[in-house]
Amino acid sequence: MSALAVEISGLNKWFGPHHVLRDVSLGLGAGEKLVLCGPSGSGKSTLIRCINGLETFQEGALSLCGRSLDGSAAALREIRAMSGMVFQSFNLFPHLTVLENLCIGPVHGRGMARAEAVARARDLLERVRLSDQIAKYPGQLSGGQAQRVAIARTLMLEPRVLLFDEPTSALDPEMIHEVLEVMEELAIGGQSMIVVTHEMGFARRVADLVVFMDAGEIIEATDPESFFRAPRTPRAAEFVRQIS
Ligand code: ADP
Ligand code: MG
Repeated sequence: MSALAVEISGLNKWFGPHHVLRDVSLGLGAGEKLVLCGPSGSGKSTLIRCINGLETFQEGALSLCGRSLDGSAAALREIRAMSGMVFQSFNLFPHLTVLENLCIGPVHGRGMARAEAVARARDLLERVRLSDQIAKYPGQLSGGQAQRVAIARTLMLEPRVLLFDEPTSALDPEMIHEVLEVMEELAIGGQSMIVVTHEMGFARRVADLVVFMDAGEIIEATDPESFFRAPRTPRAAEFVRQIS
């Protein structure tokens, strides 16, 4: 039996007195896609930041691909290496070209040979259809192009689990599609992923599981059709009404 890509049980997190994640448990099988949704402030970003070690938590257990966060620096390092995060705001280095944005982490952080990094970067930029933008700087790109660069950059280190935090929320409507299309291709390719998004069409086409959070708690976890067509709780129904 192979380990789950992500396994969380009884996770609780407080920011000072504020209880922001309440007894969160979930499992993501290898190759599965989970869409995480819920009102603003419900704890979605905090949860996925816990999954890749950007945030700590006070109670509960978390493991990626069988590796548990056990308080050791080695486990934290491995969990960070197994997960890759794509942010709403791209977070590209403005003073580096597209190619260098992809290569700097692997070459300087992980000791990847430069030739290998460049070859891999070219490959990934082709996959996200940006081969012609390789020498540009982030300021010369559209939002949709910048987000596709950010996705390619995250893929440089071959994460076992990809985490997306509202990847299309900062984009003009006409650019949302090109980013979702790249994400769907990754999904079809078998990438395990957790996507925080309110894009219902994407969730319907791609998600194995939709998880709805409110006030730090998982309220529903079900398949997308059931969730969007017949949410079981009033809070989820209200949320679906608002995003429809
Ligand atoms: P979401 O992504 O669903 O909008 P967040 O995970 O960003 O929600 O936030 C959950 C709650 O935690 C909110 O009440 C937010 O104000 C609070 N919060 C988030 N980050 C911090 C922080 N660094 N310090 C204190 N409170 C925070
Ligand atoms: Mg958020």
